[in-house]
Amino acid sequence: MSAVIPVSTPISQPFWEGLKEEVIRVPRCDECSHWIFYPRRHCTHCGSLSMTWREISGRATLCSYTLARVPTLEEFAADPPQNLAIVTLEEGFNVNSSLVDIEPGDMRIGMALRPVFAPVGDSGARRLLFTAA
Ligand SMILES: [Zn+2]
Repeated sequence: MSAVIPVSTPISQPFWEGLKEEVIRVPRCDECSHWIFYPRRHCTHCGSLSMTWREISGRATLCSYTLARVPTLEEFAADPPQNLAIVTLEEGFNVNSSLVDIEPGDMRIGMALRPVFAPVGDSGARRLLFTAA
């Protein structure tokens, strides 16, 4: 796996720290219950600044995908093709990710997925990828 180390900010840090523990943490609005992904300072639905980080299972389905035969970053050149995917978590929001350990011919829109917490080099960081459930 390529060593593109995710850059966390004070706002997104709980998400990235959770991945190191193989836990997915996502903020949820305390006012309207909207999931806020990618993490932001405010709710993208109602504008509230009040939110609580919650653990989710990572159970998901495949919304869309494409095989990128030209690497999206030079650091991914050793892993062609990239199986870029939009994944719908069971909570109802989408995550841009990649699929691993699935043959391209076996990919189906709507297929059940589970998370993979992929180590990034020796940094301790992990990327959130998905594979068949
Ligand atoms: Zn809200």
